[in-house]
Amino acid sequence: MAMFQSSTDIKFLQGVGPGRAELLEKEIGIKTMGDMLCYYPYRYVDRSKIYRICEIDGNMPHVQLCGQITIMEEFGEGRQKRIVGRFTDGTGFIELVWFQGLKFVSKAYKVRTPYIIFGKPTIFSGRLQINHPDIEDAPEDLYNAIRQQNASAINTLFAKAEGFTPSQPTLAAQTFRPHYHTTERMKKHFLTSTAVARLMSNLFNLITEPLPETLPQSIVSEYHLMSYDEAIHNVHFPTSSDALRRAQARLKFEELFYVQLNILRYAKNRRLKTNGFIFSTVGEAFNTFYHQHLPFELTGAQKRVVKEIRQDMRSGRQMNRLLQGDVGSGKTLVALLCALIAIDNGYQTVIMAPTEILAEQHVETLRNFLGDMPIRVELLTGSVKGKRRREILEALADGSIHILVGTHAVIEDNVQFHILGFAVIDEQHRFGVAQRAKLWNKGAFPPHVLVMTATPIPRTLAMTLYGDLDVSVIDELPPGRKPIKTIHQFMAHLDRIHSAMRTELRKGHQIYVVYPLIEETEKLDLQDLERGYAEICDTFPEYHVSRVHGKLKPAEKDREMEAFASGKTQILVATTVIEVGVNVPNASVMVIMNAERFGLSQLHQLRGRVGRGAEQSYCVLVTNHKISDTTRCRLQIMVDSTDGFEIAEEDLKLRGPGDLEGTQQSGMAFDLKIANLARDGQILTYARAAAQRLIDSDPEENLPQHTIAWQRLNELRESDTNWGAIS
Ligand code: ADP
Ligand code: MG
Repeated sequence: MAMFQSSTDIKFLQGVGPGRAELLEKEIGIKTMGDMLCYYPYRYVDRSKIYRICEIDGNMPHVQLCGQITIMEEFGEGRQKRIVGRFTDGTGFIELVWFQGLKFVSKAYKVRTPYIIFGKPTIFSGRLQINHPDIEDAPEDLYNAIRQQNASAINTLFAKAEGFTPSQPTLAAQTFRPHYHTTERMKKHFLTSTAVARLMSNLFNLITEPLPETLPQSIVSEYHLMSYDEAIHNVHFPTSSDALRRAQARLKFEELFYVQLNILRYAKNRRLKTNGFIFSTVGEAFNTFYHQHLPFELTGAQKRVVKEIRQDMRSGRQMNRLLQGDVGSGKTLVALLCALIAIDNGYQTVIMAPTEILAEQHVETLRNFLGDMPIRVELLTGSVKGKRRREILEALADGSIHILVGTHAVIEDNVQFHILGFAVIDEQHRFGVAQRAKLWNKGAFPPHVLVMTATPIPRTLAMTLYGDLDVSVIDELPPGRKPIKTIHQFMAHLDRIHSAMRTELRKGHQIYVVYPLIEETEKLDLQDLERGYAEICDTFPEYHVSRVHGKLKPAEKDREMEAFASGKTQILVATTVIEVGVNVPNASVMVIMNAERFGLSQLHQLRGRVGRGAEQSYCVLVTNHKISDTTRCRLQIMVDSTDGFEIAEEDLKLRGPGDLEGTQQSGMAFDLKIANLARDGQILTYARAAAQRLIDSDPEENLPQHTIAWQRLNELRESDTNWGAIS
């Protein structure tokens, strides 16, 4: 018999062989016995209880029955074709129904054979049914015992009305049954969840020695974790619900621990290796601006964040900081203040925005703020061409431009700075990590980097995605803002929405109407938008309407946006291109069509486009009548809350981290095998603390008691590209 070794090819496992091995690898990525061991069940079903058919009603969850099929028949033709088996345990009848795999079913299952069946009971035209039940042979003695008990239960059935509850037979040996994800192709080849469980049990038969521990003993003891060996056994074949919980907690902790160890070690090494420019003075530019040009008091949060950044800038280490602040919290001003510090120390600043429109708006905003101060701010985007472009590149290289604002164009190789000291990346989730790194190659030292985002990232996710960045948060809006009123309205009441729009337009306000666009190529969406545009033009003939979508040429798009921004048009019908950053303070209504098709964070971003002036603003979420309960819940969260962080947390809970914006870059958040960032925040906090302590106490990475951890980390980094991608 083969011995267990993690690296042994899975084809050598009893019951696998070359054919199934190929299937396992192609479908679920299992190549070795070690991979198999880490293929965790996605749920467990309590199979200790065997029900009687007479106890069942159509509202029960899954039930387990023990009995036999008395007759099997085929009904229907073509797609209606099905096999129905009449199943009894002596207390009643239930129909077992199959629509698929009929050939297999008719061969595999026999009448008058003891079976244990498992599935969800339903009632169909008054008859109890289970569709596609799990079936397996029942041990003879169990079957006989149950027959006997059921026979006596039948005799006393009439006593039930007087409060009699028959005792439940149990399958003591099998409490929790693991269920494994399988694919359609696997099922076609009979690799069902049950079959995978059987293979897993073959695998465990090979494991004769306890599996070695994979965490340092000190951590296992400190956090009262189950041993690795016990956890792996219990996660596949739990001995009790308590053991299962502890096994899962242990494996989640371990998974998150190594993710954090990887990130934190990277951050530490970067800190050690990467020196930063020292901005020692706060001089004329900053002070003149602060005392003579600042149009309003900074909020407390803005002051705090500027202080945090100043600390970083004079520390001698390169800053890598994430600035989170809800839409409208005043991040641009913070960036400007820090740019002025860079200027005071003789360095240039670059500000990168995700779109041309935003870049232009930034230039305008900064120039307005700076007024007549002798600070040169220039724009560089793809559409800045020819002579103008050459001029800018020259002025950049000789240092006469202080702040360059642009799109991706600023990271092109031919863009050379005199001395770049500070880089701001606005709405960074649109930028790849690689692009961020490219900035660093523009000088001898990397510039200090400030990543700004208005997509609030829940703490747990931030720790994993941006675990290498320090985080500052602006958690306060400038005073005087009226909270936006959010309303959910059905499509059928479009007339009400229109009349509310008219009221606002008459006050001289502007309005956004946004349509979803999942794929810029999807024809359907564009049709929706065009129809909506025509309708708006018809309904409001006395107003001017702009229209923006991804199919427009950049110049056209800019012209339309510009018309709205300058107030020439009063209504902007758009797809989500306006989502990020656009600032039109006179706009007071945001109408979002098919709101059910947006993520919560996206809705929040869109809503943030209004409420920028002093007037009361509104956000109208428009949906069809038919929406699911989850959708209703999500929209209700929007109606109830204007707090971006709260919304992001709820979004994470409802949708899972894989769907959240911003996660696509990391690959890490949704490659977790067992931990769930939405639910395991507490474990993550512990795991991160443990990883940080290990790094702090072992800077040389050579303490014998930590060997396990460093070795394991290296193995993980070698085995999975996502792990290596971080450095
Ligand atoms: P965001 O954080 O979404 O980028 P902005 O930087 O665009 O927000 O700021 C939103 C608006 O708030 C701008 O018009 C800006 O001038 C204004 N603002 C910023 N800071 C303050 C402040 N401390 N007091 C009043 N208004 C402010
Ligand atoms: Mg902004």
